[in-house]
Amino acid sequence: MHELSLVASMFETLLDQAQAHNAKRITGVKIQVGALAGAVPELLETAFDSYKKGTIAENAVLTIVKPPFTVRCRACGNETIRNDFVMACSACDSTDLEIVHGMELILEKIELETDD
Ligand SMILES: [Zn+2]
Repeated sequence: MHELSLVASMFETLLDQAQAHNAKRITGVKIQVGALAGAVPELLETAFDSYKKGTIAENAVLTIVKPPFTVRCRACGNETIRNDFVMACSACDSTDLEIVHGMELILEKIELETDD
């Protein structure tokens, strides 16, 4: 499962960050998973929950933000959210588009807690 290896490498970063900040606990993790990022949020959640057991992230809350698939038209500059994933400008029908959102797979925020 692709999501498992994503979460595995995410945990490496999380634990590195916690150590760098002398944190005793990781209380929250926020990630962005675009609609076309190639990862299923539900599977990431499941993998996260099984990975965190027995780690300092045991009680961490995972928040997943899902940026909608958004394109910008190179012809008219219009920005469109395409929930149907059709590569066409909604204003002028041009297909000369640039993807603005939807490909994200980003670790956005880590909440850490230190004792004392
Ligand atoms: Zn356009």
